[in-house]
Amino acid sequence: MIRPLVHDPIFLSQKSSLAGKEDLSVAKDLLDTLNAYKGQCVGMAANMIGVRKSIIAFENAGTYMVMLNPVILEKIGMYEAEEGCLSLLGEPRKAKRFQMIRVQYQTERLETRTDVFLGWTAQIIQHEVDHCNGILI
Ligand SMILES: [Zn+2]
Repeated sequence: MIRPLVHDPIFLSQKSSLAGKEDLSVAKDLLDTLNAYKGQCVGMAANMIGVRKSIIAFENAGTYMVMLNPVILEKIGMYEAEEGCLSLLGEPRKAKRFQMIRVQYQTERLETRTDVFLGWTAQIIQHEVDHCNGILI
């Protein structure tokens, strides 16, 4: 189900809580909503659709990937990026990002995994993990 986007910075500045099995329908809605904004948006966090649970969805090499409770364990190679955000109005803003990140997360089957991501995909994940932590660019 496609859900309306939240633009309230106070709501978006609060940290999301851990997601569990009961939140898998939110993950599905997040994918549906991200797909509806294809072309404008490459990633979303659940608080952007009004649910403060730690769930993100993003483009990864032409497909969509969902993570529950993502935690960045390691980051290497800082650079300054300019990013836009569908939840925020205005021009792109500067953000410090890292070329390589190692992320622990749970899949939609609630399996815990750790993977390394590089470049653009890593940048999207960092932006969405920030959303889960209540950090806006
Ligand atoms: Zn954003």
